[in-house]
Amino acid sequence: MATRSLVRVCFTLFLLTTACARADVQVFACEPEWAALAGEIGGDKVETVSATNALQDPHYIQARPSLIAAVRNSDLLICSGSGLEVGWLPLLLRKGNNPKVQPWQPGYLMASEFVKRLEIPTALDRSQGDMHAQGNPHIQTDPRNIGLVARVLAERLQKIDPANAPAYARRLAAFEEKWTAAISRWQDRAASLRGKQLVVHHKSWIYLMNWLGLVEVAALESKPGIPPSAAHLNELLVRLKADPAALIIRAPYQDPQPSEWLTKQTGIPSAALPFTVGGDDDATDLYSLFDVTIRILQEKMEPARD
Ligand SMILES: [Zn+2]
Repeated sequence: MATRSLVRVCFTLFLLTTACARADVQVFACEPEWAALAGEIGGDKVETVSATNALQDPHYIQARPSLIAAVRNSDLLICSGSGLEVGWLPLLLRKGNNPKVQPWQPGYLMASEFVKRLEIPTALDRSQGDMHAQGNPHIQTDPRNIGLVARVLAERLQKIDPANAPAYARRLAAFEEKWTAAISRWQDRAASLRGKQLVVHHKSWIYLMNWLGLVEVAALESKPGIPPSAAHLNELLVRLKADPAALIIRAPYQDPQPSEWLTKQTGIPSAALPFTVGGDDDATDLYSLFDVTIRILQEKMEPARD
């Protein structure tokens, strides 16, 4: 919406003055959370496109010509990395042929390289399949990871656009202050959820669980990327009847049927959590993303609470 109105304003200005100032740094974000973070740290100095929206599985999208053009025109590329975009980003980088955003350049930022990655398989362990072979890439579900990436992003913006370096430093400082306060507020609010047992559709939530002290007891996919099979769901049904979990969660783009079937069979509630900015009507920025996530967890697992 904002991009569209900016285009309209630019077009009107173009008619009037034949010129329209572009933002100083063009950012290509692979996922909405990194686009939102670029907005927090870059403000009006950056213009951002996101390759995926919250209703798309970032493991699988098409390398469309419009995305190739966006990569070609970008000064900075920010993605989760750890293989999350392996099915489409290499092609975009090759076809976009933009030296500024190739690996080892300051314009190439793989967020998961700057946080403690979880579920890194050992050489002999194939339990995570090929999809999470470099560890779990879904790092944005822990806001502390977003705070770590914010620092790296500010450094990169300062390198790429030194003229605006003081502005990036100021925005980072303001963000860090507000974000740190928000994290402790979320932790306080979610303290009563510690130790609750959850079932996940895809292994999308390990960072959230680790942050809030939740326990992942099963996944509907037998391995990441393997759709839930009847045999696997029946096995889970037996397990959950013997040892019930508190909630079954999924991302908005995942098929609700398997979790709803289990809910019907076991009475364990299920819910879609926003997963990223835009994954729920109320999750409109990074702050509301976690507000909504914790609100849904509480509503579903502590329904008697005020
Ligand atoms: Zn995944």
